[in-house]
Amino acid sequence: MKSITAEILAIGDELLLGQTLDTNSHWLSAKLTETGIRVIRRTAVGDNEADILQAFAQAEARADVVLITGGLGPTHDDLTKPCLAKYFNCEIKIHPEALAEITAFFQKRGRELTETNRQQAALPVCCEKITNTIGTAPGMWFQRNGKVFVSMPGVPHEMKKMTEEIVLPKLRTIFNPPVIVHRIIRTAGIGESFLADRIAGWEKQLPAHIRLAYLPGIGEVKLRLTATGTDKDTLHLELEKQTGLLLPLIDEFVYATEDEPLEKVIGKMLRDKNLTLAIAESCTGGYISHLITSVPGSSDYFVGAMIPYAYEVKMRQLGVKPETLEKYGAVSEPTITEMASIVRAKFNAHIGVATSGIAGPGGATPEKPVGLIWIAYSDKYKTVTRKLMLTHDRLLNIKLTATAVLNLIRLNLPR
Ligand code: AMP
Ligand code: MG
Repeated sequence: MKSITAEILAIGDELLLGQTLDTNSHWLSAKLTETGIRVIRRTAVGDNEADILQAFAQAEARADVVLITGGLGPTHDDLTKPCLAKYFNCEIKIHPEALAEITAFFQKRGRELTETNRQQAALPVCCEKITNTIGTAPGMWFQRNGKVFVSMPGVPHEMKKMTEEIVLPKLRTIFNPPVIVHRIIRTAGIGESFLADRIAGWEKQLPAHIRLAYLPGIGEVKLRLTATGTDKDTLHLELEKQTGLLLPLIDEFVYATEDEPLEKVIGKMLRDKNLTLAIAESCTGGYISHLITSVPGSSDYFVGAMIPYAYEVKMRQLGVKPETLEKYGAVSEPTITEMASIVRAKFNAHIGVATSGIAGPGGATPEKPVGLIWIAYSDKYKTVTRKLMLTHDRLLNIKLTATAVLNLIRLNLPR
Protein backbone atom coordinates (compact mmCIF):
# COMPACT_ATOMS: atom_id res chain seq x y z
CA MET A 1 0.00 0.00 0.00
CA LYS A 2 1.37 3.41 -0.99
CA SER A 3 1.86 5.65 2.01
CA ILE A 4 0.55 9.21 2.08
CA THR A 5 3.30 11.63 3.03
CA ALA A 6 3.12 15.01 4.72
CA GLU A 7 5.40 17.88 5.58
CA ILE A 8 4.77 20.45 8.28
CA LEU A 9 5.91 24.00 7.83
CA ALA A 10 5.92 26.35 10.82
CA ILE A 11 6.24 30.02 9.92
CA GLY A 12 7.21 32.86 12.24
CA ASP A 13 10.32 34.79 13.31
CA GLU A 14 9.45 34.02 16.94
CA LEU A 15 10.16 30.32 16.30
CA LEU A 16 13.67 31.00 14.98
CA LEU A 17 14.48 33.51 17.70
CA GLY A 18 13.77 30.93 20.38
CA GLN A 19 10.87 32.93 21.81
CA THR A 20 8.10 30.47 20.97
CA LEU A 21 8.42 26.70 21.09
CA ASP A 22 7.02 25.11 17.93
CA THR A 23 4.35 23.06 19.68
CA ASN A 24 2.13 23.18 16.58
CA SER A 25 4.39 20.87 14.57
CA HIS A 26 4.72 18.44 17.46
CA TRP A 27 0.95 18.24 17.86
CA LEU A 28 0.30 17.99 14.11
CA SER A 29 2.85 15.17 13.79
CA ALA A 30 0.95 13.08 16.32
CA LYS A 31 -2.41 13.81 14.67
CA LEU A 32 -1.21 12.99 11.16
CA THR A 33 0.43 9.78 12.36
CA GLU A 34 -2.80 8.76 14.07
CA THR A 35 -4.59 9.42 10.79
CA GLY A 36 -2.24 7.11 8.88
CA ILE A 37 -0.37 9.89 7.10
CA ARG A 38 3.43 9.63 7.27
CA VAL A 39 5.17 12.85 8.29
CA ILE A 40 8.47 12.95 6.41
CA ARG A 41 9.82 16.38 7.36
CA ARG A 42 9.23 19.41 9.57
CA THR A 43 10.61 22.84 8.78
CA ALA A 44 10.55 26.20 10.54
CA VAL A 45 11.10 29.42 8.59
CA GLY A 46 10.96 33.09 9.49
CA ASP A 47 8.57 35.72 8.15
CA ASN A 48 10.59 36.18 4.99
CA GLU A 49 9.15 35.91 1.48
CA ALA A 50 12.07 34.23 -0.25
CA ASP A 51 12.49 31.64 2.51
CA ILE A 52 8.77 30.90 2.61
CA LEU A 53 8.50 30.45 -1.18
CA GLN A 54 11.52 28.19 -1.22
CA ALA A 55 10.07 26.10 1.62
CA PHE A 56 6.77 25.76 -0.28
CA ALA A 57 8.51 24.53 -3.43
CA GLN A 58 10.69 22.03 -1.58
CA ALA A 59 7.78 20.64 0.43
CA GLU A 60 5.57 20.33 -2.66
CA ALA A 61 8.28 18.37 -4.46
CA ARG A 62 8.54 15.82 -1.64
CA ALA A 63 5.14 15.37 -0.02
CA ASP A 64 1.48 14.78 -0.84
CA VAL A 65 0.25 17.08 1.91
CA VAL A 66 1.82 20.29 3.25
CA LEU A 67 0.41 21.67 6.49
CA ILE A 68 1.42 25.24 7.25
CA THR A 69 0.88 27.15 10.50
CA GLY A 70 1.58 30.77 11.34
CA GLY A 71 2.01 34.04 9.59
CA LEU A 72 -1.71 34.74 9.14
CA GLY A 73 -2.08 37.69 11.47
CA PRO A 74 -3.50 40.99 10.17
CA THR A 75 -0.20 42.84 10.60
CA HIS A 76 2.48 43.52 7.98
CA ASP A 77 5.01 41.15 9.48
CA ASP A 78 2.82 38.15 8.65
CA LEU A 79 3.47 37.07 5.04
CA THR A 80 2.06 33.58 4.60
CA LYS A 81 -1.08 34.66 2.74
CA PRO A 82 0.61 36.88 0.09
CA CYS A 83 3.25 34.18 -0.34
CA LEU A 84 0.58 31.55 -1.00
CA ALA A 85 -1.14 33.84 -3.53
CA LYS A 86 2.17 34.35 -5.31
CA TYR A 87 3.07 30.66 -5.18
CA PHE A 88 -0.29 29.54 -6.58
CA ASN A 89 -0.34 32.50 -8.92
CA CYS A 90 -3.69 34.05 -8.08
CA GLU A 91 -4.92 37.35 -6.73
CA ILE A 92 -6.25 38.13 -3.27
CA LYS A 93 -9.84 39.36 -2.97
CA ILE A 94 -12.33 39.92 -0.19
CA HIS A 95 -14.21 36.65 0.31
CA PRO A 96 -17.85 37.67 1.02
CA GLU A 97 -18.58 34.73 3.32
CA ALA A 98 -15.33 35.24 5.24
CA LEU A 99 -16.17 38.93 5.61
CA ALA A 100 -19.61 38.06 6.99
CA GLU A 101 -18.00 35.70 9.51
CA ILE A 102 -15.41 38.24 10.64
CA THR A 103 -18.05 40.96 10.92
CA ALA A 104 -20.21 38.69 13.06
CA PHE A 105 -17.17 37.76 15.19
CA PHE A 106 -16.52 41.43 16.02
CA GLN A 107 -20.19 42.32 16.46
CA LYS A 108 -20.66 39.51 18.96
CA ARG A 109 -17.83 40.93 21.04
CA GLY A 110 -19.05 44.51 20.69
CA ARG A 111 -15.84 45.54 18.93
CA GLU A 112 -15.37 47.77 15.93
CA LEU A 113 -14.28 46.16 12.65
CA THR A 114 -11.23 48.09 11.47
CA GLU A 115 -9.86 48.04 7.92
CA THR A 116 -6.97 45.87 9.12
CA ASN A 117 -9.44 43.31 10.46
CA ARG A 118 -11.49 43.53 7.26
CA GLN A 119 -8.40 42.55 5.30
CA GLN A 120 -8.39 39.21 7.10
CA ALA A 121 -11.39 38.31 4.94
CA ALA A 122 -9.29 38.80 1.81
CA LEU A 123 -8.17 35.41 0.48
CA PRO A 124 -6.36 34.13 -2.61
CA VAL A 125 -9.14 33.34 -5.10
CA CYS A 126 -7.69 29.90 -5.89
CA CYS A 127 -8.13 28.60 -2.33
CA GLU A 128 -11.05 27.17 -0.44
CA LYS A 129 -11.77 29.00 2.82
CA ILE A 130 -11.56 27.10 6.08
CA THR A 131 -13.80 28.76 8.64
CA ASN A 132 -12.17 29.82 11.90
CA THR A 133 -14.93 29.54 14.50
CA ILE A 134 -12.83 30.84 17.40
CA GLY A 135 -10.63 33.48 15.79
CA THR A 136 -10.46 35.95 12.95
CA ALA A 137 -7.94 34.53 10.46
CA PRO A 138 -9.57 31.94 8.16
CA GLY A 139 -7.56 28.92 7.07
CA MET A 140 -6.89 28.20 3.39
CA TRP A 141 -7.03 24.96 1.41
CA PHE A 142 -5.18 24.70 -1.92
CA GLN A 143 -5.13 21.70 -4.21
CA ARG A 144 -3.24 21.13 -7.45
CA ASN A 145 -1.89 18.07 -9.26
CA GLY A 146 -3.10 15.78 -6.50
CA LYS A 147 -1.22 17.71 -3.79
CA VAL A 148 -2.79 19.58 -0.89
CA PHE A 149 -1.55 22.74 0.85
CA VAL A 150 -3.32 23.82 4.01
CA SER A 151 -2.56 27.08 5.76
CA MET A 152 -3.76 27.62 9.31
CA PRO A 153 -3.28 30.30 11.99
CA GLY A 154 -0.33 29.96 14.37
CA VAL A 155 -2.46 30.34 17.50
CA PRO A 156 -2.46 26.78 18.81
CA HIS A 157 -6.09 26.40 19.89
CA GLU A 158 -7.39 27.84 16.59
CA MET A 159 -5.09 25.58 14.58
CA LYS A 160 -6.12 22.50 16.60
CA LYS A 161 -9.84 23.10 16.17
CA MET A 162 -9.48 23.57 12.40
CA THR A 163 -7.31 20.48 12.08
CA GLU A 164 -9.66 18.20 13.98
CA GLU A 165 -12.95 19.49 12.63
CA ILE A 166 -12.10 20.17 9.00
CA VAL A 167 -8.59 19.34 7.82
CA LEU A 168 -8.21 15.73 9.00
CA PRO A 169 -11.71 14.59 7.92
CA LYS A 170 -11.10 16.14 4.49
CA LEU A 171 -7.66 14.50 4.16
CA ARG A 172 -9.21 11.14 5.09
CA THR A 173 -11.82 11.51 2.37
CA ILE A 174 -9.36 12.52 -0.32
CA PHE A 175 -6.48 10.13 0.42
CA ASN A 176 -8.13 7.23 2.25
CA PRO A 177 -4.94 6.67 4.27
CA PRO A 178 -4.06 3.26 5.72
CA VAL A 179 -5.04 2.33 9.28
CA ILE A 180 -2.17 2.46 11.77
CA VAL A 181 -2.25 0.67 15.11
CA HIS A 182 0.38 0.81 17.88
CA ARG A 183 1.24 -1.41 20.82
CA ILE A 184 3.67 -0.40 23.55
CA ILE A 185 5.59 -2.87 25.69
CA ARG A 186 7.58 -1.36 28.56
CA THR A 187 10.70 -2.94 30.00
CA ALA A 188 13.09 -2.08 32.83
CA GLY A 189 16.40 -3.51 33.97
CA ILE A 190 17.88 -4.29 30.56
CA GLY A 191 19.76 -2.03 28.15
CA GLU A 192 18.62 -1.38 24.60
CA SER A 193 21.35 -3.39 22.87
CA PHE A 194 20.96 -6.43 25.17
CA LEU A 195 17.25 -6.32 24.56
CA ALA A 196 17.82 -6.14 20.79
CA ASP A 197 20.14 -9.20 20.95
CA ARG A 198 17.58 -11.20 22.89
CA ILE A 199 14.74 -10.56 20.51
CA ALA A 200 16.69 -10.53 17.23
CA GLY A 201 15.11 -13.79 16.02
CA TRP A 202 11.61 -12.59 16.79
CA GLU A 203 12.28 -9.21 15.17
CA LYS A 204 13.44 -10.92 11.99
CA GLN A 205 10.22 -12.89 11.57
CA LEU A 206 8.00 -9.76 11.84
CA PRO A 207 5.98 -9.25 8.66
CA ALA A 208 6.81 -6.17 6.57
CA HIS A 209 3.72 -4.27 7.69
CA ILE A 210 4.66 -4.50 11.38
CA ARG A 211 7.55 -2.31 12.45
CA LEU A 212 9.47 -2.29 15.72
CA ALA A 213 10.98 0.78 17.41
CA TYR A 214 13.21 0.93 20.50
CA LEU A 215 12.47 3.97 22.65
CA PRO A 216 15.05 4.16 25.45
CA GLY A 217 14.13 6.21 28.52
CA ILE A 218 15.66 6.64 31.96
CA GLY A 219 16.46 3.15 33.19
CA GLU A 220 13.89 1.65 30.87
CA VAL A 221 13.25 0.84 27.23
CA LYS A 222 9.87 0.99 25.52
CA LEU A 223 9.21 -1.23 22.54
CA ARG A 224 6.69 0.14 20.08
CA LEU A 225 5.08 -2.11 17.52
CA THR A 226 3.37 -0.33 14.64
CA ALA A 227 1.10 -2.20 12.26
CA THR A 228 -0.14 -0.69 9.01
CA GLY A 229 -3.08 -2.06 7.01
CA THR A 230 -6.72 -1.59 6.17
CA ASP A 231 -8.65 -3.13 9.07
CA LYS A 232 -8.18 -2.01 12.66
CA ASP A 233 -9.44 -5.21 14.33
CA THR A 234 -7.23 -7.45 12.18
CA LEU A 235 -4.20 -5.31 13.01
CA HIS A 236 -4.96 -5.43 16.74
CA LEU A 237 -5.18 -9.23 16.56
CA GLU A 238 -1.87 -9.42 14.71
CA LEU A 239 -0.15 -7.23 17.31
CA GLU A 240 -1.65 -9.35 20.07
CA LYS A 241 -0.20 -12.46 18.43
CA GLN A 242 3.25 -10.90 17.98
CA THR A 243 3.24 -9.67 21.59
CA GLY A 244 2.42 -13.22 22.68
CA LEU A 245 5.50 -14.49 20.85
CA LEU A 246 7.71 -11.74 22.24
CA LEU A 247 6.86 -11.83 25.94
CA PRO A 248 8.36 -15.24 26.82
CA LEU A 249 11.73 -14.03 25.47
CA ILE A 250 11.96 -11.06 27.84
CA ASP A 251 9.51 -12.02 30.56
CA GLU A 252 11.55 -10.83 33.57
CA PHE A 253 12.07 -7.36 32.08
CA VAL A 254 8.55 -6.57 30.89
CA TYR A 255 6.53 -4.58 33.39
CA ALA A 256 3.65 -3.43 31.17
CA THR A 257 2.11 -4.44 27.87
CA GLU A 258 0.45 -1.07 27.50
CA ASP A 259 1.80 2.45 27.90
CA GLU A 260 1.75 2.89 31.66
CA PRO A 261 4.59 3.90 33.99
CA LEU A 262 6.31 1.64 36.49
CA GLU A 263 4.92 3.47 39.55
CA LYS A 264 1.39 2.75 38.34
CA VAL A 265 2.17 -0.92 37.75
CA ILE A 266 3.74 -1.19 41.23
CA GLY A 267 0.67 0.48 42.70
CA LYS A 268 -1.63 -2.09 41.10
CA MET A 269 0.55 -4.97 42.31
CA LEU A 270 0.59 -3.66 45.89
CA ARG A 271 -3.16 -3.08 45.90
CA ASP A 272 -3.91 -6.52 44.43
CA LYS A 273 -1.76 -8.20 47.04
CA ASN A 274 -3.02 -6.02 49.90
CA LEU A 275 0.50 -4.90 50.74
CA THR A 276 1.77 -1.57 52.07
CA LEU A 277 4.99 0.28 51.31
CA ALA A 278 7.30 2.58 53.31
CA ILE A 279 10.43 4.29 52.01
CA ALA A 280 13.66 5.61 53.53
CA GLU A 281 15.12 7.67 50.74
CA SER A 282 18.38 9.44 51.30
CA CYS A 283 20.03 10.25 47.96
CA THR A 284 16.71 10.34 46.08
CA GLY A 285 15.41 13.04 48.45
CA GLY A 286 11.71 12.18 48.13
CA TYR A 287 11.64 11.56 44.38
CA ILE A 288 10.43 7.96 44.70
CA SER A 289 7.66 9.09 47.06
CA HIS A 290 6.72 11.75 44.53
CA LEU A 291 6.39 9.11 41.78
CA ILE A 292 4.42 6.75 43.99
CA THR A 293 2.05 9.49 45.14
CA SER A 294 1.52 10.82 41.59
CA VAL A 295 -0.72 7.80 41.07
CA PRO A 296 -4.33 8.42 42.17
CA GLY A 297 -5.38 6.10 44.99
CA SER A 298 -1.81 5.56 46.24
CA SER A 299 -3.02 6.05 49.82
CA ASP A 300 -4.35 2.48 49.56
CA TYR A 301 -0.79 1.11 49.76
CA PHE A 302 1.72 3.89 50.48
CA VAL A 303 2.05 4.55 54.20
CA GLY A 304 4.83 7.12 54.16
CA ALA A 305 8.49 7.93 53.81
CA MET A 306 11.40 9.42 55.63
CA ILE A 307 14.28 11.35 54.12
CA PRO A 308 17.16 10.59 56.47
CA TYR A 309 19.61 12.76 54.56
CA ALA A 310 22.04 13.67 57.34
CA TYR A 311 24.18 11.10 59.10
CA GLU A 312 22.60 12.17 62.42
CA VAL A 313 19.07 11.64 61.13
CA LYS A 314 19.95 8.20 59.76
CA MET A 315 21.15 7.35 63.25
CA ARG A 316 18.76 9.10 65.65
CA GLN A 317 15.46 9.46 63.80
CA LEU A 318 15.60 6.37 61.61
CA GLY A 319 17.65 4.24 63.99
CA VAL A 320 20.55 2.86 61.96
CA LYS A 321 23.11 1.51 64.47
CA PRO A 322 26.01 3.94 65.12
CA GLU A 323 28.47 1.02 64.79
CA THR A 324 27.17 0.24 61.31
CA LEU A 325 27.46 3.84 60.17
CA GLU A 326 30.90 4.27 61.72
CA LYS A 327 32.34 1.05 60.40
CA TYR A 328 30.87 1.00 56.88
CA GLY A 329 29.66 4.56 56.23
CA ALA A 330 26.27 5.83 55.06
CA VAL A 331 26.75 4.54 51.51
CA SER A 332 27.23 0.85 52.16
CA GLU A 333 25.45 -2.47 52.02
CA PRO A 334 25.12 -2.93 55.80
CA THR A 335 23.63 0.58 56.20
CA ILE A 336 21.15 0.22 53.33
CA THR A 337 20.09 -3.19 54.66
CA GLU A 338 19.27 -1.67 58.03
CA MET A 339 17.55 1.35 56.47
CA ALA A 340 15.10 -0.78 54.48
CA SER A 341 14.20 -3.12 57.31
CA ILE A 342 13.99 -0.37 59.95
CA VAL A 343 11.70 1.85 57.87
CA ARG A 344 9.45 -1.14 57.24
CA ALA A 345 9.19 -1.83 60.97
CA LYS A 346 8.90 1.84 62.01
CA PHE A 347 6.08 2.55 59.56
CA ASN A 348 4.45 -0.81 60.20
CA ALA A 349 4.44 -1.60 56.47
CA HIS A 350 4.77 -4.92 54.63
CA ILE A 351 7.52 -3.63 52.35
CA GLY A 352 10.40 -1.25 53.09
CA VAL A 353 12.77 0.17 50.49
CA ALA A 354 15.76 2.47 50.88
CA THR A 355 18.32 4.48 48.91
CA SER A 356 21.72 5.87 49.87
CA GLY A 357 24.46 7.02 47.55
CA ILE A 358 26.74 9.66 46.11
CA ALA A 359 24.48 11.52 43.66
CA GLY A 360 27.30 13.95 42.79
CA PRO A 361 28.93 16.03 41.60
CA GLY A 362 30.74 16.35 44.98
CA GLY A 363 31.00 14.03 47.96
CA ALA A 364 33.14 11.30 46.42
CA THR A 365 36.04 9.47 48.06
CA PRO A 366 38.50 7.09 46.35
CA GLU A 367 36.48 4.08 47.52
CA LYS A 368 33.10 5.71 46.95
CA PRO A 369 32.93 7.45 43.57
CA VAL A 370 30.14 9.68 42.28
CA GLY A 371 27.33 7.50 41.01
CA LEU A 372 27.80 4.76 43.62
CA ILE A 373 24.34 4.12 45.03
CA TRP A 374 22.99 1.35 47.23
CA ILE A 375 19.35 0.38 47.19
CA ALA A 376 17.48 -2.22 49.23
CA TYR A 377 14.15 -3.98 49.46
CA SER A 378 12.88 -5.63 52.61
CA ASP A 379 9.83 -7.71 53.46
CA LYS A 380 9.20 -10.23 56.22
CA TYR A 381 10.80 -13.03 54.21
CA LYS A 382 13.91 -11.39 52.83
CA THR A 383 16.10 -8.36 52.26
CA VAL A 384 17.59 -7.76 48.83
CA THR A 385 20.29 -5.19 48.08
CA ARG A 386 21.69 -3.81 44.83
CA LYS A 387 24.80 -1.78 44.17
CA LEU A 388 24.33 0.68 41.33
CA MET A 389 27.20 2.37 39.49
CA LEU A 390 25.55 5.30 37.76
CA THR A 391 26.60 8.58 36.14
CA HIS A 392 28.11 11.97 37.04
CA ASP A 393 24.79 13.74 36.52
CA ARG A 394 22.99 14.34 39.79
CA LEU A 395 19.39 14.54 38.53
CA LEU A 396 19.88 11.62 36.18
CA ASN A 397 21.26 9.56 39.10
CA ILE A 398 18.18 10.37 41.16
CA LYS A 399 15.85 9.30 38.35
CA LEU A 400 17.81 6.16 37.48
CA THR A 401 17.83 5.16 41.15
CA ALA A 402 14.07 5.64 41.38
CA THR A 403 13.48 3.37 38.38
CA ALA A 404 15.85 0.77 39.84
CA VAL A 405 14.02 0.81 43.20
CA LEU A 406 10.60 0.51 41.60
CA ASN A 407 11.88 -2.38 39.51
CA LEU A 408 13.37 -4.00 42.61
CA ILE A 409 9.95 -3.85 44.25
CA ARG A 410 8.32 -5.38 41.17
CA LEU A 411 10.77 -8.29 41.08
CA ASN A 412 10.63 -9.09 44.79
CA LEU A 413 7.04 -8.72 45.96
CA PRO A 414 5.92 -11.95 47.60
CA ARG A 415 3.71 -13.99 45.28
P1 AMP B 1 0.56 34.15 13.61
O1 AMP B 1 -0.39 33.24 12.88
O2 AMP B 1 1.90 34.19 12.98
O3 AMP B 1 -0.02 35.52 13.83
O4 AMP B 1 0.83 33.51 15.05
C1 AMP B 1 0.10 33.89 16.16
C2 AMP B 1 0.71 33.36 17.44
O5 AMP B 1 0.65 31.94 17.46
C3 AMP B 1 2.20 33.65 17.61
O6 AMP B 1 2.41 34.88 18.19
C4 AMP B 1 2.66 32.54 18.51
O7 AMP B 1 2.46 32.87 19.87
C5 AMP B 1 1.74 31.39 18.15
N1 AMP B 1 2.43 30.44 17.27
C6 AMP B 1 2.76 30.65 15.98
N2 AMP B 1 3.37 29.56 15.46
C7 AMP B 1 3.42 28.65 16.45
C8 AMP B 1 3.93 27.32 16.54
N3 AMP B 1 4.50 26.71 15.48
N4 AMP B 1 3.82 26.65 17.72
C9 AMP B 1 3.22 27.27 18.75
N5 AMP B 1 2.73 28.52 18.74
C10 AMP B 1 2.82 29.21 17.60
MG1 MG C 1 3.52 35.68 13.04
